[in-house]
Amino acid sequence: MHNAECTMQNVQSVRTLLLATTNRGKLREIRAILSGLPFQLVTLADWPDVAAPEETGATFEENARIKALHYATATHQLTVADDSGLEIDALSGAPGIESARWGGAGVSYAQKFALIYDALRAKGSPDSPARFVCALALAHDGRILFETRGTVEGRIAREPKGDGGFGYDPIFYYPPLDRTLAEVDDEKGEVSHRGAAFRKVREYLEERQA
Ligand code: IMP
Repeated sequence: MHNAECTMQNVQSVRTLLLATTNRGKLREIRAILSGLPFQLVTLADWPDVAAPEETGATFEENARIKALHYATATHQLTVADDSGLEIDALSGAPGIESARWGGAGVSYAQKFALIYDALRAKGSPDSPARFVCALALAHDGRILFETRGTVEGRIAREPKGDGGFGYDPIFYYPPLDRTLAEVDDEKGEVSHRGAAFRKVREYLEERQA
């Protein structure tokens, strides 16, 4: 899904890669997946004055593009941004792109989980199929160079379990490992939506560095 021609020159002249997120859980996972790449990984902490864009997109992909273009333009860096979230089938895909804000401002994840379990019980599907989605966009010089998406399929756990990971991990049961993603911990990148998407951007960057 190469959305625009990326000239070799574009990537080769830039050895710094901005990871456009402030989410510590995401950053920890992304750093692990991209480790060893010949890029200096920098974060938005190095640009404290750059405000976040409004995430006005209707899809994960649109929001990833909005963030990547915004931060690439504001910082003049090669920038990778992701937009991610949890889709629960019995809730018609909610929380979806609203995952971070779902339930309202200041609502804790414990409260979000309780709301989800109430809604699922009302639907008669307490262990609904669900997936995490990660859309990712790489931008430089006002252009999208590369886009991709990763997903991981699972279902909602009967109860929250585990204290690793972040966000909705404790309620996301991953059948192949018979654990929630909060119980998987260091192997999460090997199976996760973010791991799948960032491995593709890693391959893209490696090909253009060769
Ligand atoms: P974003 O920062 O707008 O992409 O929102 C992502 C939100 O989706 C996070 O704040 C979490 O609520 C949820 N999310 C995304 N990826 C994960 C994950 O790997 N584990 C748990 N929750 C996630």
